[in-house]
Amino acid sequence: MRIDILTALPEQVERAVDLTVLRRAKDKIALHVHDLGTYAEGHHKQIDDYPYGGGAGMVLKPEPIFACIEALGGSPDEVIYLSPDGEPLTQALANTLSLKKHIVLLAGHYKGIDHRVREVLVTREVSVGDYVLSGGELPALLVADAVARLIPGVLGDIQSALEDSFQDGLLGAPTYTRPASFRGLEVPEVLCSGNHSSIAEWREEVRQQRTRERRPDLWQQYVAREKT
Ligand code: SAM
Repeated sequence: MRIDILTALPEQVERAVDLTVLRRAKDKIALHVHDLGTYAEGHHKQIDDYPYGGGAGMVLKPEPIFACIEALGGSPDEVIYLSPDGEPLTQALANTLSLKKHIVLLAGHYKGIDHRVREVLVTREVSVGDYVLSGGELPALLVADAVARLIPGVLGDIQSALEDSFQDGLLGAPTYTRPASFRGLEVPEVLCSGNHSSIAEWREEVRQQRTRERRPDLWQQYVAREKT
């Protein structure tokens, strides 16, 4: 798999890559960060400009984005623009993207990007939540992390990723480690029993209970799916 991240702030992204699971992912997937400034035209290498129609904030120009994507060559499976008005980033979407061969993540900045890029180049728009961040760098890293950890070999044990929250529509089970007793707080007995089927039953029960209590929206979807 190949992931290209296009950004006006390549150093920020590269540093973050080196501090996260994405560093390990670099052995398993080709992860490249591209500086949009490199593709800017003119003496001043300007990548942004004032918005037509007036208003506050600058807008990323189309030329560097088109030039950068064209320079990547090939035809990426997805060109994803990170945007607050995109489809929500979910585990289901991360699963879908993890099956692609080549994805491009485009981080906006300032007021956003020239809309013609979205109309012509972008195949999908993804939001990391109903709030506005200053740039698409962190959202791009979130998508890259959620996808990369599903690629075999990136995590020590892929089974762990498959048992996490959301994979089967439920929240994850609580986790404990040694000591079994700590300041009068006990680990649930069943987890120390060595009885794998009882442990699996307990985990399933707790996952359902927590999902019902914490995320009634997910619980309703889960129940509806179980019925079909
Ligand atoms: N004017 C835009 C709007 O009202 O939707 C917000 C622009 S925001 C200040 C600058 C950039 O940050 C966006 O182009 C986008 O790439 C990124 N961004 C901000 N919040 C985001 C979110 N919730 N999800 C994904 N990307 C986001």
